[in-house]
Amino acid sequence: MGYPFTEEQEIIQQTAREFTQEYIEPVAAEIDRTALHPQEIVHSLAEQGFMGTFLPGDFGGAEAGFLSYALIIEEISKSSGAVASILNHHAAMAAYSINAWGSKEQKEQYLTAMCEGELLGAFAFYEPDAAPGVGEHKVIARKDGDAYILSGRKCYVANGGVAGIYVVFALTDLGAGLKGMSAFLVDGDAPGLSVARTIKKMGLRGCQSAELIFDNVKIPQSSLLGTEGAGMAIVAKAQAAASVAEGAIVVGIAQAAMDDAVEYGKQRIQFKQPIARFPAIQTMLAEMATNIHMLRLAVYHAAGLIENDEPFTAEAAMIKLFAARIGQSALIDVVQIEGGYGYSEDMAVSRYFRDIKGVVIKTCSVDFPETVIAKSLLD
Ligand SMILES: Cc1cc2nc3c(=O)[nH]c(=O)nc-3n(C[C@H](O)[C@H](O)[C@H](O)COP(=O)(O)OP(=O)(O)OC[C@H]3O[C@@H](n4cnc5c(N)ncnc54)[C@H](O)[C@@H]3O)c2cc1C
Repeated sequence: MGYPFTEEQEIIQQTAREFTQEYIEPVAAEIDRTALHPQEIVHSLAEQGFMGTFLPGDFGGAEAGFLSYALIIEEISKSSGAVASILNHHAAMAAYSINAWGSKEQKEQYLTAMCEGELLGAFAFYEPDAAPGVGEHKVIARKDGDAYILSGRKCYVANGGVAGIYVVFALTDLGAGLKGMSAFLVDGDAPGLSVARTIKKMGLRGCQSAELIFDNVKIPQSSLLGTEGAGMAIVAKAQAAASVAEGAIVVGIAQAAMDDAVEYGKQRIQFKQPIARFPAIQTMLAEMATNIHMLRLAVYHAAGLIENDEPFTAEAAMIKLFAARIGQSALIDVVQIEGGYGYSEDMAVSRYFRDIKGVVIKTCSVDFPETVIAKSLLD
């Protein structure tokens, strides 16, 4: 029995599946090989209305809900974790934050252009010398009359260098620790903002990661997102939403890898029979299928909570924890099933393997998922 989707969700899922097959699948390996930002694909995503799936219609969004968004992300991930990541940093991190905390003017200025694909979003929190949310954050925003001046370095910013709008986190009160963290909207072409370097990565290539320099970037007071000191609340919520969508990325990649392994197992003959007949192979496939199914249900459930404006932080942390475990183990087993061929660069599993590892590392959270889950039980 399938998940009880609405007719609209079924249409969106089917549209995303066909779109992925037509536009992304043929170039996915090439995106990985060149590691170049796939601008044409991003245009096509915008034409399909995928850049603002869950955003309000008043600001150009499709208002189709977060579950529809998760379905799109899952379908895209079956072909390219990199393209899904570009979309997720844009939508579930940058646009989500602006929609949740932005003023009407900020939403009008940015969200419509983000939904139309004119502006790609990025989320710049991580810093070279600070573990996420702890350690020494050094990017600061100094008040200067009716403006702020941003200075410092951000690291590992997905869509960095190609984004038109950055949600940037900086300290406004140096004595207040993380309570002094605030969020700002900074245009990609703001004077003083530059790319120090793009980071060569093991996987998720094509979703460009950059180190950014803020050299006295002057932004108007109206660029403050939410209130001064609201930065960590924005980070926590956006990262939780992104974790749910990243669960969908893990589901998509793992499903594609398992489908490959099933086909391979049926065709590869050893000891005069397809290896898929061996109990050891069947056990690996059975565990993989069960784990993917469980994660998929958890993602759909949490996406529904987001859509209905219900609390979802603990569920998002559970997804993050479970996705990290089962995503990695599924890919290790797929390589095992595909044997020596699986280990070669000729097979897509090499890319799936590298991509899934990046997905489970990247959405930093201020707390480890176990801490968030335990807190929800004990508080
Ligand atoms: C592909 C990719 C894209 C990214 N995109 C973005 C982005 O767009 N925006 C952004 O802001 N950031 C981004 N990041 C950065 C990301 O948020 C961090 O890399 C991530 O949070 C992990 O932090 P870290 O690299 O400092 O690891 P560390 O915190 O140094 O952790 C290293 C290891 O130590 C362990 N560890 C750390 N502390 C503890 C502890 N207290 N107890 C036990 N174990 C511990 C960790 O689990 C890990 O195994 C991205 C990262 C990647 C890989």
